[in-house]
Amino acid sequence: DQVANQIAAGEVVERPASVVKELLENSIDAGATRIRVEVEGGGRKLIRIVDNGHGMGRDDALLAFERHATSKLRTSDDLLSIATLGFRGEALPSIASVARLLLETRAPEDEAGTLIEIAGGNILRVEDAGLPPGTTIAIRDLFYNTPARRKFLKSESTELSHIAALVTHYALAHPTRHFELHSATQALLVAPAVANAGERLYQIFGRETASLMLQTAAEMDFTRAGLPEPPPWKREEDYQPPDPGYLRITGFVAKPELQKLNRNSIYVFVNHRLIRDRLVLHALTEAYRNVIPPTSFPVVLLFLEMPPQEVDVNVHPAKTEVRFRQPTFVHDFIRDTVRTTLMNARP
Ligand code: ADP
Ligand code: MG
Repeated sequence: DQVANQIAAGEVVERPASVVKELLENSIDAGATRIRVEVEGGGRKLIRIVDNGHGMGRDDALLAFERHATSKLRTSDDLLSIATLGFRGEALPSIASVARLLLETRAPEDEAGTLIEIAGGNILRVEDAGLPPGTTIAIRDLFYNTPARRKFLKSESTELSHIAALVTHYALAHPTRHFELHSATQALLVAPAVANAGERLYQIFGRETASLMLQTAAEMDFTRAGLPEPPPWKREEDYQPPDPGYLRITGFVAKPELQKLNRNSIYVFVNHRLIRDRLVLHALTEAYRNVIPPTSFPVVLLFLEMPPQEVDVNVHPAKTEVRFRQPTFVHDFIRDTVRTTLMNARP
């Protein structure tokens, strides 16, 4: 099974930032309000994440390292209604198979916590431990037992910049939680909880950039709009309308005069999960067409919310691709919302 874990690791764990993404999502799933990430050597030497979430009892902590055992997908119906960020039960076993891992966790209601030490997928130690409530996971020496994978890692500073970008985006998506990122002794991000996404934007980008961002927000009710007419060749009584649902867009788009040089300044979250999706990028490109010079790239921070059954996030293990159940509807709604926001802001 270690082979299966290492193969899965090849899909899930591409680089240190992918480990950070999985651990961050787990902490968020666990309801943590404070999340602290520490790295050394760009994450190759150490990634430690400390949260104050609901922790795990000993049995659950051991189960967490069994592949698919913890998967929340109980039936194939569940595939279409994944409300939490984690769903495959693959991340921890995969990470544990290609690194040295120390888990310390305690559920608030338990007297003692649990410490589990694993290296290359082998459990070395399981002990009771006096711990504060919450979970700390330390990943050391990523890919120490898979030299071929280790060779593909980029420089420390490149890996660190990926991690910093990732933590920043999750901080933007979850303004009411406290996030910290430290690299060795350097604090790269300290973002105490704030009331809303707008305040977080100021906190992270500063007043100047934030003032060039326009707030965009729109909501569409599938039941009120966008429902297709029954096709004429279908008998009325056979027609099954799509489930009622909604699509909510909130976020910020840059005014045309804010020209960021960085191509990677489009961040889209679907139900709080960071995604990269061609359909969404296309909708944004269309929204910005003729609005900004073709040589510049838009800065966009967009949060989409929709019922879990409207989006399939199970397309790829790295979980950045998604499939919308009504792609055209989602595409056009994003395009029109962003375009309207930009047009209203023009002097
Ligand atoms: P998934 O998130 O897909 O369920 P993971 O391998 O990422 O799978 O995690 C396995 C399980 O371990 C989770 O389902 C959760 O029950 C538990 N877990 C992982 N990290 C934490 C955490 N920080 N706090 C509490 N429980 C956690
Ligand atoms: Mg997970």
